[in-house]
Amino acid sequence: MSDPIQFPAEAALIERVQAADGEGREILDAATREVIGRAPVRSCEDLDDAVARAKAAQPAWEALGHEQRCEYLRKAADAIDANAEALARLLSREQGKPLNGPNARFEVGGCSAWLRSNAATALEPQVLIDDEHLHAELVYKALGVVGAISPWNWPMMISVWQIGPALRMGDTVVIKPSSNTPLSVLALVSVMNEVLPPDVLIAVPGPGELGARLASHPDVAKVMFTGSTEVGRRIVESTAGNLARVTLELGGNDAGIVLPGTDASAIAQDLFWGAFINTGQTCAAMKRLYVHDSVYEDVVQALAEVARQTPMGPGLDEGNVLGPLQNKAQFDTVERLVEDAKAHGGRVVTGGAPATELGELFYPVTLVADVTDGVALVDEEQFGPVLPIIRYTDVEDAFARANAAEVGLGASVWSSDPTEARAYATRMQSGTVWINAHGGLHPMVPFGGVKGSGYGLEFGVEGLKSVAAPQVVSGPGRKH
Ligand code: NAD
Repeated sequence: MSDPIQFPAEAALIERVQAADGEGREILDAATREVIGRAPVRSCEDLDDAVARAKAAQPAWEALGHEQRCEYLRKAADAIDANAEALARLLSREQGKPLNGPNARFEVGGCSAWLRSNAATALEPQVLIDDEHLHAELVYKALGVVGAISPWNWPMMISVWQIGPALRMGDTVVIKPSSNTPLSVLALVSVMNEVLPPDVLIAVPGPGELGARLASHPDVAKVMFTGSTEVGRRIVESTAGNLARVTLELGGNDAGIVLPGTDASAIAQDLFWGAFINTGQTCAAMKRLYVHDSVYEDVVQALAEVARQTPMGPGLDEGNVLGPLQNKAQFDTVERLVEDAKAHGGRVVTGGAPATELGELFYPVTLVADVTDGVALVDEEQFGPVLPIIRYTDVEDAFARANAAEVGLGASVWSSDPTEARAYATRMQSGTVWINAHGGLHPMVPFGGVKGSGYGLEFGVEGLKSVAAPQVVSGPGRKH
């Protein structure tokens, strides 16, 4: 384990964003439970002040034009890269995800990659009609102030998904980070603000009520919300007064279906990471796996083998690729769901009890076989390192059960014959369906949910549209 004092750039970042001595809240290292620093806790008045400053800064930011704003985004990406290791270490300690694997260094790299992609994406005016009588086109303009509210699982990356497109389109942004991971987002915003003009991006850390205040603020034109379905519903209520537009990226209970005859060994690694990326604390991770009877035991054993070979432990240890749960509430949810599944006849193949030898919030990779729909572990979002594996015999029945969930973020179909999998794919009721993979995202490929997983799209051209106001410009046609 390494000491922050031995990494001065990380200590300096924390110093820059944390509350004064005796103020704010203590933030603990998710793995060791040592104090990392103190997060400021802002008030509703502070939030109002931030919105007022962002509103005042917006016209000049919009007036810069696309070229200059894109240049700022590229500079912000460079600033993130220049501070990457310090940011990754802070993220690793506060969130819990290890430095290596698809975790902290990967997340920080994703932040700069996404900003560069936002800068490289154009949203051109769309000519609707161009004839003798009429020329009409659709142009996209800035909305004003965007309120961003982000969760604790991928705190930096998800914040950038909300911030980048909005800045790109000429909006200014006030962001309310999760109170579980405020230092990571404050540090990220502070690094971006080394190069951005004043007040185009302001972070206001504090409790959920600040998020409610932001969503209902009369000067907020758009709310980008990523979090639970429950809070998503409250966001919709909060925006009844200001009629702010809303993008809701909410919870999921993604199903994977392994079709008959699939070679288990060929898919085991990808199945594993589809479920256990970020130690299972990922919105679009696979959370229920339906496996055909013909290959059921093969898949269970192949996954167990990958689990045995995948090291879990404190994130700063370079050898680990799985970490702790981020917080006690999530740890308790995982423990409750596993105990309930055991009580309902679930067969624990690996894991099944807290890994107390690693620390307070560690729960090992847990595969629970021989459970089925109706058990809480299958029906609810576990958001942690446990996967129920459900046996099926009839493919139609598997799709019906996968689609019975009230949420629909991602889904996947697995087969040794990708053409066969593709033929089934669009039957899934989800915003994305992957074939022989689960959870992979790309900055140019739109992402969003259906049903209780929310609405609106992020990424690519669709993502830019979601933080812009479409305006129709209609005039005389060519004859005039
Ligand atoms: P959460 O809903 O508890 O919190 C999200 C944010 O909302 C936090 O910043 C929180 O402080 C704030 N908040 C709380 N109450 C509020 C209120 N009344 N009004 C406005 N804001 C309020 O979610 P979480 O526990 O941080 O994140 C985990 C959940 O997020 C999981 O369900 C996961 O699936 C989901 N998630 C979805 C996506 C996606 O892209 N669809 C991505 C990541 C996480």
